[in-house]
Amino acid sequence: MDDFNLEFFKKRREIIKTLIISPLISLFYPVHASSGILSSPIGTNRLRPPGAVSEEIFAGKCIRCGRCVEVCPYKSIIQLDIKNGVYAGTPLIIAENIPCYLCMKCVEVCPTGTLRKIKQEETRMGLAVINKHVCVTWKGETICRTCYNVCLFKDKAIRLDELRPVIDEKFCAGCGLCVHGCPVSYKDNLKAINIEPIYSQNGKSE
Ligand code: SF4
Ligand code: SF4
Ligand code: SF4
Repeated sequence: MDDFNLEFFKKRREIIKTLIISPLISLFYPVHASSGILSSPIGTNRLRPPGAVSEEIFAGKCIRCGRCVEVCPYKSIIQLDIKNGVYAGTPLIIAENIPCYLCMKCVEVCPTGTLRKIKQEETRMGLAVINKHVCVTWKGETICRTCYNVCLFKDKAIRLDELRPVIDEKFCAGCGLCVHGCPVSYKDNLKAINIEPIYSQNGKSE
């Protein structure tokens, strides 16, 4: 066997090992810890797909089949790699790169109920939060209404108040379309509007 093939088979063996072992570890090990291989990938603009069960049980329930990743027509979902420890193989959306377009195809194909079959308007992946110190409209520098224009729930999840965007948590799906559209970036890929996954720990993440 030449070097290339040897390397290929080694890598493949490692990936398969992780994909088999990590769900087992997550079943028997509580995932409250916040460091190293047990550190959840969820955070600002780092979201589970629609309908996700609570983050505490997500890694134990998801079988890493990748069906949600494959079915997404927008390639919004990535499958986490081996560096993510017990979360390797689970799905994640990085809102500023490719947000969720709420087509709801992934919730239909998930075989384990890790993504629950919910309706588009029931989705709560997180909550959009506007940083008024960074948003150019709130700062009075110019009138930008990109976040408002791209939102599927315009005038409900996001409305304009004297031309300034305002979020209503009753309707915001946390899809990240506004984050992706926002032209104002600052440190660590944050935008003037960002999604906080506030529902991910209490089982209301839909
Ligand atoms: S709802 Fe549609 S766009 Fe959003 S992650 Fe699922 S498949 Fe992709
Ligand atoms: S379809 Fe469901 S079980 Fe399969 S990887 Fe996605 S979330 Fe996990
Ligand atoms: S405000 Fe942003 S995150 Fe909330 S529904 Fe509209 S586009 Fe999606």
